[in-house]
Amino acid sequence: MNDRGSDVVIIGAGVHGASAAYHLARSGTRVTVIERLAPAGGPTGLSSGVCRAYYTNGFLAEAARDSIRMMLDFEEIGRGHDSGYRRTGFLYLHPPQDAQGVTDNAARLNTLEIRVELHRGDDLARQFPQFALDDIGIGAYEVEAGYADPAGTTAGLMAGAVASGAVLRSHATVQELKLRPGGGAVVRLPGRESLEAERLLIAAGPWTAPLARQVGVELPLGVERHVVATTRLADPARIPFGHSDLVTGYYCRPEGADQYVMGWTHPGEPVNPDQFDRSIRRDEELELENAVARRYPLMHDAEPRGGWASLYDVSPDWQPVIGEIAEGVFVDAGTSGHGFKLAPALGRHVADLVRGRPDPRLAQFDPQRFEKGELLSAGYRDARILG
Ligand SMILES: Cc1cc2nc3c(=O)[nH]c(=O)nc-3n(C[C@H](O)[C@H](O)[C@H](O)COP(=O)(O)OP(=O)(O)OC[C@H]3O[C@@H](n4cnc5c(N)ncnc54)[C@H](O)[C@@H]3O)c2cc1C
Repeated sequence: MNDRGSDVVIIGAGVHGASAAYHLARSGTRVTVIERLAPAGGPTGLSSGVCRAYYTNGFLAEAARDSIRMMLDFEEIGRGHDSGYRRTGFLYLHPPQDAQGVTDNAARLNTLEIRVELHRGDDLARQFPQFALDDIGIGAYEVEAGYADPAGTTAGLMAGAVASGAVLRSHATVQELKLRPGGGAVVRLPGRESLEAERLLIAAGPWTAPLARQVGVELPLGVERHVVATTRLADPARIPFGHSDLVTGYYCRPEGADQYVMGWTHPGEPVNPDQFDRSIRRDEELELENAVARRYPLMHDAEPRGGWASLYDVSPDWQPVIGEIAEGVFVDAGTSGHGFKLAPALGRHVADLVRGRPDPRLAQFDPQRFEKGELLSAGYRDARILG
């Protein structure tokens, strides 16, 4: 290792890279994080920030639960940065055919201390009169769910990492990777500078697959464009909790006292991550707002407030891709539009993996599972984003 070397180099200061850096630095590992923009400057900073532990995968449910706990108690972790966590509660509206699966899953989640209450028929209509519920069979209400600020959370995790000795190199793009004899990689930066990494973690979101290709590994990660729309609705009868409609395929959460943030739960359009439309078109905004208003009629009175588009790095089963892809080279990517709220606690597992002490439950996310045909189940029908 040269004098600019680190035990671990991380590519990407999205919330996943920042969280792994936080946990690694706290364990005494020398970490350097290379980020082409600034922390959360990529898709993380444009995330809708929904935080729920309503997962069908038990390990991810626990990671989300623990992340929410970290974000609720963020002051020390974030060195003055605010995670912005707001507990609002979140209602999942399912079609009748999901009833058995939802009931079984709610029982499992409740044993994990993730409070989910179920409502059906007249009880559902009585508890949630704000919705048109004709085609809904069961509603699951997650009490502790809410939303947080992805930029603040990432900045805080990064600040916590730096306070424990990590080095952040922002506005620096990794240009080339080469495997290093004995494990790890040589990481080339602009200006002919290179860093030797005994271990390398690629946490570069939609840019992970091209970086992995440089060390001879093909990862089956796609990149999709997804839109987010916002509206203002000051009506005192507005619902203060988030909801997701699993029949239509959208999510909608409050933002502060009088706004909503919404997006689709189904797959989006494949795009080139370096060339795509970052704005939301008016027709896309209307389609989303109308879909929400059919279920939640008060939304007809909301004022459109614009929105944006950003990228999901999507794996074939919509579950994360985490593992060692070459000796001393690891990836944490493929979070498929649901990875913000997993990251604060999942980063500890990623750090343990990089340090050679993985939790055996992490093996299910191995990048080679696709070649072996061992895809994970996730969510409900095309709403695999629910994990
Ligand atoms: C519109 C939208 C809404 C979402 N809503 C939610 C939600 O409500 N709840 C939820 O939990 N999740 C949500 N997500 C998903 C969540 O935001 C992501 O899963 C998460 O942010 C992924 O973080 P990451 O660190 O893996 O990747 P990224 O945020 O993509 O970070 C990767 C970083 O790597 C850097 N990088 C890439 N190449 C290089 C290079 N060569 N050299 C140096 N740096 C490089 C990039 O600049 C980037 O900052 C949403 C995502 C989007 C886009």
